[in-house]
Amino acid sequence: MLILQNKKYLKILFVLISVLSNLCVAQDFPTKPLTMIVPFSAGGPTDSVARLLAVPMGKYLGQTVLVENSVGAGGTIAANKVAKSPKDGYTLLIHHIGISTAPALYAKLNYDTLNDFEYIGEIVNVPMTLIGSKNFPPNNMQELLVYIQKNKDKVTLANAGPGAVSQLCGMLFTSQVGIPLTQVPYKGTGPAITDLLGGQVDLLCDQTTNTLTYIRSDKVKLFGVTTSKRLSTLPNVPTLGEQGLKGFEIVAWHGLYAPKGTPSPVVEKINKALHFALMDPDVKARLNELNVEIAKPEEQTPSALKSKVEAEVKKWAPIIKAAGGYIE
Ligand code: ASP
Repeated sequence: MLILQNKKYLKILFVLISVLSNLCVAQDFPTKPLTMIVPFSAGGPTDSVARLLAVPMGKYLGQTVLVENSVGAGGTIAANKVAKSPKDGYTLLIHHIGISTAPALYAKLNYDTLNDFEYIGEIVNVPMTLIGSKNFPPNNMQELLVYIQKNKDKVTLANAGPGAVSQLCGMLFTSQVGIPLTQVPYKGTGPAITDLLGGQVDLLCDQTTNTLTYIRSDKVKLFGVTTSKRLSTLPNVPTLGEQGLKGFEIVAWHGLYAPKGTPSPVVEKINKALHFALMDPDVKARLNELNVEIAKPEEQTPSALKSKVEAEVKKWAPIIKAAGGYIE
């Protein structure tokens, strides 16, 4: 009896100590710079969002937020790195929809998508555009489909690797068209777009964060947008669905993550910093210019992001399988 009572008190004491130590950690946090890991190359959409947020988040936290690009394998290298980082809030992962499509694309991942992260909040929702090099002969979707039929072996489609949303978009496009084009993987769509501008690759499906500037300056050809409705910034450009690609819809949502086990007061503080950054007038204006929609305040929460990832993992697995998604 006495032993049982002692056990009970020890348990309460243990809970009290961990609550108090979490509070102390959160009060002090952060005492040094944080690192936000971007799973793709510099100059791409994820990198752009990270760099826009880093400064105001740092302002809120009173510490610098460094941006580090840890590239390769469609974002899974970075996700694994953050999953295995110290659980102290100093190493964060910014990732897009790819965090939830990778489990269907890879037979084995070195991390557990649903159990290895603390969710901080959803950040943005980004439409995508199917664009082509200026040297590429077709000028619209109709011409593109005819050209692809006639030049199956010649047409190249860039992406940022399996797990990247550009690869998902390319995969859905080729599966609907029924012709497997030659895929050219990059470590991010920053370098992919450079090659597209240079004419080394023909097609790329990428976020407006990266493409809108080139579309506006007429440096690329535009074949359609991946959303279910037309974009306010490109009202005359039809969606892929309108052009015969039935039910085609991809929105590249982004979220912020920490390693599982990061104390919840620390997660809360980072969440507040994220919220603060997304209210920053300069951040808002820049994202608005690029047709990037800021997540609603109720979506910017840990629980909303958790539900989103869980739902998206479920949603994409059968779609990827039906589209013949490849497993590495
Ligand atoms: N947009 C890229 C992708 O296809 C990633 C990036 O470079 O941000 O996933």
